[in-house]
Amino acid sequence: MTTVSDQDAVVVGCGMAGLSAANRAAELGLDVTVLEKAPEEHRGGHTRFSESFRVASSDADLEQYGYEFDIDDYSPDEFYDDVMKQTNGRADKELARTIVDNIGPTVEWLTERGVEWDMEPLNVGYTVARTFFEGEELVTDLVDAAEQTGATFHYGTEARELVFDDGAVAGLRARTDGGIVEFRAETVIVAAGGYESSEEKRTRYYGSDYDAMKVRGSRYNTGEGIEMVLDAGGRATGQWGGAHMALIDSDSPDYEGGANRVDGYQYGVLLNNEGERFFDEGEDARAHTYAKLGRLIFEEPGHEAFIVIDDPLRNHMRATGPGGWVRGDTVEAVLGELGCDAPAAGAATVEAFNAACDPGEFDPDSLDGNDTDGLDTEKSNWALPIDEPPFYGYCVTGGITFGFGGAAQDTRARALDTVGRPISGLYVAGNTTGGLFFDNYPGGTGLANAAVFGKIAAEEAADYLAVDDR
Ligand SMILES: Cc1cc2nc3c(=O)[nH]c(=O)nc-3n(C[C@H](O)[C@H](O)[C@H](O)COP(=O)(O)OP(=O)(O)OC[C@H]3O[C@@H](n4cnc5c(N)ncnc54)[C@H](O)[C@@H]3O)c2cc1C
Repeated sequence: MTTVSDQDAVVVGCGMAGLSAANRAAELGLDVTVLEKAPEEHRGGHTRFSESFRVASSDADLEQYGYEFDIDDYSPDEFYDDVMKQTNGRADKELARTIVDNIGPTVEWLTERGVEWDMEPLNVGYTVARTFFEGEELVTDLVDAAEQTGATFHYGTEARELVFDDGAVAGLRARTDGGIVEFRAETVIVAAGGYESSEEKRTRYYGSDYDAMKVRGSRYNTGEGIEMVLDAGGRATGQWGGAHMALIDSDSPDYEGGANRVDGYQYGVLLNNEGERFFDEGEDARAHTYAKLGRLIFEEPGHEAFIVIDDPLRNHMRATGPGGWVRGDTVEAVLGELGCDAPAAGAATVEAFNAACDPGEFDPDSLDGNDTDGLDTEKSNWALPIDEPPFYGYCVTGGITFGFGGAAQDTRARALDTVGRPISGLYVAGNTTGGLFFDNYPGGTGLANAAVFGKIAAEEAADYLAVDDR
């Protein structure tokens, strides 16, 4: 077996968490090696498909780099409250607090590492500061920055087993094109994403049909990084039966559909194959419902649903997947063309919905309080009658973004064993970890989590290595 033994830290994974860790470790003077399972052209995990960070803007001074937030009043406390609200109070409070308190400085640091932002205003109906970018560029910029600071990258290298000396991490074994290679290092940072791209694990945690669910991100996130930590004594934590499953274009490919959401559904209605509504489309802003809606749609007959809107709403919709809008003179015609099993029933549902609307002024940018009255499934905001032809429809399904279970960590990114003790020299970050997201997810928080804890993991690894008598 080949052995590689000249590094202080091995980072597993080349997404946001791994790149944050690699950059910080290299900056702190550590010899750092990054192992990436994917070939170089597919590196970057789910991060390469993502586009925005949620930032506590009152804590981030980006003006010094020439950027300005359009919304400047989003505080760490508001960010924290959003995490708690969307996770029904179940998020680990200390982890959530660590993210919201660190994301401002972390975004400043990423800017110093060469990440470029695009401060577009966000038309989602709630106030939050975000930074936008191209995921692929983000990955390229951070790999380049890490390499320039001395980090080494190995692609097509899949970490499978941690190695220990006297109870402390001593490296890991990885599968490569040339066979098993042992990478020796006194610290290992596992930032290998989650398990959602594994058909077997989707079936195990979500149910028998979930092997067929479309995967929005990288095909390489099949959970072996988490298993490696658990096999070494780490604790499994978080909501293993929960996941970010988004409403996506039903024509999306099975894997790596990327930006394939259909946004604006909150202004129209969603019908299932029986022509019925099944969800309060206006329950909250898009960014606070889309991540749980995919699962609800997947549970409907045929694993699909149909967005229906009318002409005045058309310009509030945004579809970025491969499919397209269907247009027709009646709701029934639109549903028929989309392949709905019960177009006439769907048209009757829309008629009953229209009768239950009594709108005041429509405001797409806030929870406008225009609700229905008298339906089994009410709509809480943006309830406008859908009665001005032409009508438009879109077929959508549920796609998995990432699972909510993972390995336990503390606020110092140390991997914890089943009784809560840190495992010496072992750190975890990003979607490899659990305990932060439950039931739902506030948009833009996955990258914030990965960036903050990747950086912390590197700082902790450096501190650990600096202690002589470990
Ligand atoms: C389509 C899509 C859009 C998204 N948009 C956003 C967004 O706009 N904002 C946001 O905050 N979040 C978004 N997310 C979620 C976000 O991408 C993740 O939360 C974040 O990227 C997690 O970063 P990570 O580093 O933990 O994992 P990843 O970015 O998934 O990286 C994991 C890496 O580990 C590698 N790997 C896996 N197993 C091994 C192994 N055994 N050995 C070596 N390497 C391994 C993978 O190849 C991959 O490179 C989106 C996700 C998807 C799928």
